[in-house]
Amino acid sequence: MRVNVLGIGFDNLSLEQSATLAFDKITSKEKTYAVTPNPEIVWLSRRNEALRSAINSAGLVLPDGIGVIYGAKILGTPLSHGRVPGIDFAAALFCKMAKAGLSVFLMGAKPGVAATAGENLAKTYPGLIIAGTADGYFTDSAPIIEKINSSRPDLLLVCLGAPKQELWMAENLEKLDVPLCAGLGGSLDVFAGNVKRAPVFFQKAGLEWLYRIFKEPKRLARSVSLPLFILRVIVKRITNA
Ligand code: UDP
Repeated sequence: MRVNVLGIGFDNLSLEQSATLAFDKITSKEKTYAVTPNPEIVWLSRRNEALRSAINSAGLVLPDGIGVIYGAKILGTPLSHGRVPGIDFAAALFCKMAKAGLSVFLMGAKPGVAATAGENLAKTYPGLIIAGTADGYFTDSAPIIEKINSSRPDLLLVCLGAPKQELWMAENLEKLDVPLCAGLGGSLDVFAGNVKRAPVFFQKAGLEWLYRIFKEPKRLARSVSLPLFILRVIVKRITNA
């Protein structure tokens, strides 16, 4: 059963369990998708029915944000394994896929980024096959879907940023001939080496979001939803409304 945090149901899984389940979904050809909402997206989904439905229809809903973990705890239904950052989830899944000789298609980010990410991933995870790449700045999905389907990947990374990627996966899942898609935001920029992740200290302290605001101050406007999210959770806990 999922843990409900302001209308979004989260899977209560560790990183390793999440990667194992994702791998099983690939090998059983389930045809589904994984999402990794943070508080900002949960907040946005409260007033966006299509987004809420896209997230709750996912086969895997992983808590990528310390705020979600605190939210679940305050509501009295803790996510006992802590957060599952999307990029760590991808890395754990790539390890398993490399051993099995499976393939991934990388879609998203600016032109050239996915190709560089693919070269780096192929070196980091020997055995992992890069089925193809495409940038994330297209107007017509049809030719991209055709390219993805003709390369027959086992996994499709959809890195268009939230909420675009969640809506895109929900809308196009049926047309995609792929067992598992995963919406992973800015991961390709990190895999390509263009964006550095927060130092481990920030990651362990649950402050990766703060580091990202320091590095990209334009994120500050987006992050106002974090205190609103926590406040709403507290109100919900107190009044159950
Ligand atoms: N992006 C894209 N197509 C778009 C808008 C954004 O491919 O139409 C890419 C952008 O280049 C970046 C990623 O989506 O690589 C979003 O990264 P961000 O870190 O903002 O994502 P978040 O995880 O915060 O949603």
